[in-house]
Amino acid sequence: MQERLRQLPSVQVLLDASPSPGDFGPLPYAWVRQEARDVLDEARQAILAGGSVPERDQLQQLLHQRLTAMQQRFLRPVINGTGVLIHTNLGRAPIKEELLLQAAVLASGYCSLEYDVESGQRGRRAPAVEQLISTAAGSEASLVVNNNAAAVLLALAALAEGREVIVSRGELVEIGGGFRVPDVIAQSRCQLVEVGTTNKTRLEDYRRAVNANTAVVMKIHPSNFKIQGFTEQPSRLELRQLADECGIYFVEDLGSGAFWPPPTSGSAEPLVQEAARHGHLVTFSGDKLLGGPQAGILTGQADVLHQARQHPLFRALRSDKLNLFLLQELFRLILAGAEDQLPLWQMAHASLESLQQRAEAYAAALGTGLQGEVGPAQSTMGGGSLPEEVLPTRALYLASSHCSSTELAAHFRQQEIPLITRIEQNRLLVDPRTILPHQDALVQRYLEKGVGPC
Ligand SMILES: *Cc1c(COP(=O)(O)O)cnc(C)c1O
Repeated sequence: MQERLRQLPSVQVLLDASPSPGDFGPLPYAWVRQEARDVLDEARQAILAGGSVPERDQLQQLLHQRLTAMQQRFLRPVINGTGVLIHTNLGRAPIKEELLLQAAVLASGYCSLEYDVESGQRGRRAPAVEQLISTAAGSEASLVVNNNAAAVLLALAALAEGREVIVSRGELVEIGGGFRVPDVIAQSRCQLVEVGTTNKTRLEDYRRAVNANTAVVMKIHPSNFKIQGFTEQPSRLELRQLADECGIYFVEDLGSGAFWPPPTSGSAEPLVQEAARHGHLVTFSGDKLLGGPQAGILTGQADVLHQARQHPLFRALRSDKLNLFLLQELFRLILAGAEDQLPLWQMAHASLESLQQRAEAYAAALGTGLQGEVGPAQSTMGGGSLPEEVLPTRALYLASSHCSSTELAAHFRQQEIPLITRIEQNRLLVDPRTILPHQDALVQRYLEKGVGPC
């Protein structure tokens, strides 16, 4: 046994024989060494359990696989071939590159984050961005925090801590990633009062629930699902009038926060301007907008926003200089009517002809082992919008004589910049709509290479 164990290489020999550490760029050497130790430990256990002594090649290959897998865990670029525009798992929307270059200039030096350049005194934190948002929304005041979950938490804590919040049973939703309306209300130390039924809630249901301890009547955009058929919800105007009559606040969580109707075929998202016309306070995500950084935005009536700003939670939830700057520049573009310069806008408005051409160029590049054809498909807005909000597109449907769709999808994920695809009815689909035009050449190279045995 000792003799057989001695045939195993040492950690150093295994490492020296393996691809140079440079091949695993981002991996700290300590991780690589630990992984080599683990591979040898496992080989030792296998030998002690009566197994044979593995070849050095096998050990190297095993180490290589494990290091490759570790490398895949790093946050890095991927190509989005799924056709989901605001893809939460892939970083939601791409940010306009020029804005990021400007942000690099800002953040690689000092900036006027909380400094009033005119007076030379300490100033408000990035006041212009709030003003730009208010102008776009048609509201009096705004506030920026880390994400929309934080915006809702802060809004309720500031307006309703220790008091009651009325929500329709049809809007007590889970958005995904653990955002559940009842839980957020509880975390804000408010008491949830459910009214109505799943499909129908009337103004009278809200009115009957109001008592001396009620602080807020809340509307939540169910985002990712829809109740159809025999349904009823009071209008924003009715809820606002009720809130004013009763001396309470009307708060709306919009989620996506669109400033324009989307070019999709399903029912449109509510617009921020429309919600801000009625709500004392409206919240939405900066990164579900057309290519914003991760942010949560509160906008509405000045005295209400003042309460949110004064709440101690704001200090814990406030946004950083990079995000505030990106948001400022994004809203400058929006107010200049230059939204067509934003990558997400361009993706959403890509013409069917251009999508067809790009998909055909992919199809023309197919190498050995790959078959494919271009056909109609549907892109989706994503980002918590309704599943039926789809955009007709042209996609490359891929197949292989010797690999399943799942194996093909894994093959494309293993490329230098992973290509993420979608599987639909057992076919692998590559939608050019969400692939940035400058990534087309790389996608074609992946396709030209073809696939070997799976
Ligand atoms: C997405 C969403 C949230 C959570 O927003 P994050 O920015 O992801 O924190 C909350 N409410 C609604 C209605 C949403 O759609």
